[in-house]
Amino acid sequence: MKTRAAVLDRMGMDLPYAASRPLTIRTIELDPPGPDEVLIRIAAAGLCHSDLSVINGDRPRPMPMALGHEASGIVEETGSNVHDLQRGDHVVVVFVPSCGHCPPCAEGRPALCEPGAAANGAGTLLSGARRIHHDHEGVLNHHLGCSVFAEYAVVSRRSLVRIDPEIALDEAALFGCAVLTGVGAVVNTAQVRAGASTAIIGLGGVGLAALIGARAAGARTIVAIDLSPAKLEEAMALGATHAVDARDPDAKDQVRALTGGGVEYAFEFAGAIRALELAYAITRRGGTTVTAGLPPSAASFGIPAVSLVAEERTVKGSYIGTCVPARDIPRYLELYKQGRLPVDRLLSGRLALDDINHGFDLLHEGKAVRQVVVFD
Ligand SMILES: [Zn+2]
Ligand SMILES: [Zn+2]
Repeated sequence: MKTRAAVLDRMGMDLPYAASRPLTIRTIELDPPGPDEVLIRIAAAGLCHSDLSVINGDRPRPMPMALGHEASGIVEETGSNVHDLQRGDHVVVVFVPSCGHCPPCAEGRPALCEPGAAANGAGTLLSGARRIHHDHEGVLNHHLGCSVFAEYAVVSRRSLVRIDPEIALDEAALFGCAVLTGVGAVVNTAQVRAGASTAIIGLGGVGLAALIGARAAGARTIVAIDLSPAKLEEAMALGATHAVDARDPDAKDQVRALTGGGVEYAFEFAGAIRALELAYAITRRGGTTVTAGLPPSAASFGIPAVSLVAEERTVKGSYIGTCVPARDIPRYLELYKQGRLPVDRLLSGRLALDDINHGFDLLHEGKAVRQVVVFD
C-alpha cells in the first residue's frame, strides 16, 4: 500500500529546517506486515530531541530513513503469528523492540534487548526486514523500528504495547518515549522514594516528564535546572520546588546551598557533558547521578575517581527509563488517568505532517516542549 511519510535523505543540513527541508514528505510504498508484524494507522507522533540528533548528524543513522519513533496508533492488520492484538486495538509504539529471549530480555531488561539494538542500528525491523520503499529508488531504513512520521507504519509486534482505548491518542503518543524515558529514569533507574531530594537538568519533554514523575513518586525537593527562563517557569508550574538558571556561574553552589550539600538524586537530560558535570557536582555524598541525555557519540565524561569511593557515589545510565514497556506504560497511563501524572501539560502543540520541518526548528530553539504530528 501507499503511505505519506517524512523521509530524511541526508544528515547535517543547515538551519532553519523550514528553509532547508531535511525531511521531505513523500508517498512511499509500505509492504504488508510479516508474520510477527503489525500494520498500524498512526494517530499522533511526537517530535523528540533524538530525532533532531539524527537530522543534524550527532547520532548518525543509515540513510535514507523514514523518521519518527514516538507514536500512538490503531491496529489495522496483524501478521499470521500475531494473536494477541486485533484490528481496532489502540497501541503505543516503543522504540526498542524486545525479542523476549536474549540475555538482557531473560533478565527482565528488555530496554537492553540485543537483537532489538542490532535491528535499530541496522535500520530494520526486529525481523531483519525493511518494509518501506521508494517507488523507484529502492528501500528505506526504519527509524528505531518505528518510522512513525507517516500515516501508516508496519512494525514488529514487539514494538507495541496495547493501551486503554479511553486514553486520548494525542497524549498517549508521549508515553512511548518522553514518559517512558523520563518517568522511568526516576522510578526505575534511580528508584526515588517518597521524601527524597532530586534535581533535574534539561527541561525538554523528557526532563519535564521526569519532573512530574518525581512529583508522583513523592520527592520532597525537585530542583529544576535549565538554560531557559521560560522552561524554569514551566517547571515551577509543574511542581518543581526550586528553579536554578544553569547560565549562572554559581549554579552548582546555589543548588548545594538550597539542598544542604546537594541532592540524593540528580538527573541529566540535556545530552551535554557540561550538564552531566553539573549533575555530578550537585549530587550529595552517598547520592546517585543518573544520565539519560544522549551526548554526541565521541563525548566523554571525567569523574574524580576518589569521590566514587570516599563519598560512595553512584553514576547510572538510563536507557528508555530502564523500562519494561508492557508493565510500565499501562502503569503510567493509569497514573495519568488519575491526574497524578499530568502528561497532557507536556503536549505543547499539534501540527500537520507537512509542517514537520518548522516543528523541528521550534524544538531546536527551545520554543516547544512536545509537539505531535496528528493525522486525520
Ligand atoms: Zn525520543
Ligand atoms: Zn531481547
